[in-house]
Amino acid sequence: MKAEVIAIGSELTSGQKLDTNSQWLSQRLGEVGVEVRFHTTLADDMGENVDALRMARSRAQLVIISGGLGPTQDDLTREALATMAGVPLIENEECLQALTAFFERRNREMAPRNRVQALLPDGARPLPNRTGTAPGVWFEFEGVLFAAMPGVPSEMKVMVEEQLIPRLRESGKLGSVRCYRVINMFGRGESEIEADALDLTARGREPEVGITASDATISFRISAEGATEADAWAATEPTARLIYERFGDLILGEGDVDVVQALILELQKHQATLAVAESCTGGLVAQRLTDYPGVSQVFLGGVVCYGNQAKIDLVGVPSQLIEQHGAVSAEVAEALAVGARDRFGASLGIGITGIAGPDGGTPEKPVGLVYVALANQKLVAHRRLLLGQEQPRKIIRSRAAKHAMNWARLILKSDGV
Ligand code: AMP
Ligand code: MG
Repeated sequence: MKAEVIAIGSELTSGQKLDTNSQWLSQRLGEVGVEVRFHTTLADDMGENVDALRMARSRAQLVIISGGLGPTQDDLTREALATMAGVPLIENEECLQALTAFFERRNREMAPRNRVQALLPDGARPLPNRTGTAPGVWFEFEGVLFAAMPGVPSEMKVMVEEQLIPRLRESGKLGSVRCYRVINMFGRGESEIEADALDLTARGREPEVGITASDATISFRISAEGATEADAWAATEPTARLIYERFGDLILGEGDVDVVQALILELQKHQATLAVAESCTGGLVAQRLTDYPGVSQVFLGGVVCYGNQAKIDLVGVPSQLIEQHGAVSAEVAEALAVGARDRFGASLGIGITGIAGPDGGTPEKPVGLVYVALANQKLVAHRRLLLGQEQPRKIIRSRAAKHAMNWARLILKSDGV
């Protein structure tokens, strides 16, 4: 169903006032599943209004009008609708009573001119106006629904929420709304995750679930339909719960939340502080953390100790560890983590050392071999990652940084320190 929004008023076409009603209406209608395809703005001119209504009738099934419902001579919307349809204007008893009551409540005399606001095209129904005098018009004509509302933005909005949208829903004129919910994970490969989710990603399942991968972050995308946005979101809930139950700690968060934000959240939650000593990642962890404003509360700092001497001088890695095990080793990674923790006085230290390639690999220590280590107040531990000999340097460095941050997140989650 295509909709057209028409704004009427010479103050709009002359540029004295900005037509904000059309923008608001189109957004609001979009939220309830109505696609607005045309915007028309008109001066207060009878012939042109009738022409525009005829045009709208020819190309849209729903025509939403704001403005021109006042009591004055330049308010032509009622008459233009009647002329377009070739029907007379008829005084509506319900409207007249509402008008009279409005003025009585305010202890004001109703001017004779206000009576024209009770006129409706033959066949139309009024849309009650709780906040002003001009009733709206609901007029179905030859398969097209015209709904006219006052131009005053506050009155128009109340009428849309309280009258128009409920009636559109009742008469089955609202489309359904589709929403997308993205749940991000890190720590396992896409195919492994997919193998555990075949029931969720099966074609034809409702809600539909898709899997995408970006820089080793795997995302489930749940797409669900509902009569409203809230309904559509609620329809994703059972599927989301299944995913949370099944994938637990792999889950980083939703929407834009990736490893970095998830780590920052855990640090904040546990009032922990982090410091890093990076060799092969050359400051990537520090850079990604400092992309977020306010992170200084939890991220104390980092050292890029690329050369051996820097590892010794800046972080206190014992030189014999490097001589004995080499710079890319579990022992050195752990010493980097401990050094970072202690030099910065952080509660958690990360150390990273590895071979990012493309040269420098050996059979025992191939390109893609990265040791990441963590040191908190309870433990010092390392992990040996094989990130792929054939992978480009950029990918190896990025994955190493992400793995280290993700492991830190998991440690915080389970240990809280
Ligand atoms: P009307 O219903 O034509 O008497 O409009 C009443 C008042 O509402 C106008 O004087 C404008 O100040 C305001 N108005 C009408 N149409 C719009 C619009 N499309 N966007 C913003 N304000 C409007
Ligand atoms: Mg006007």
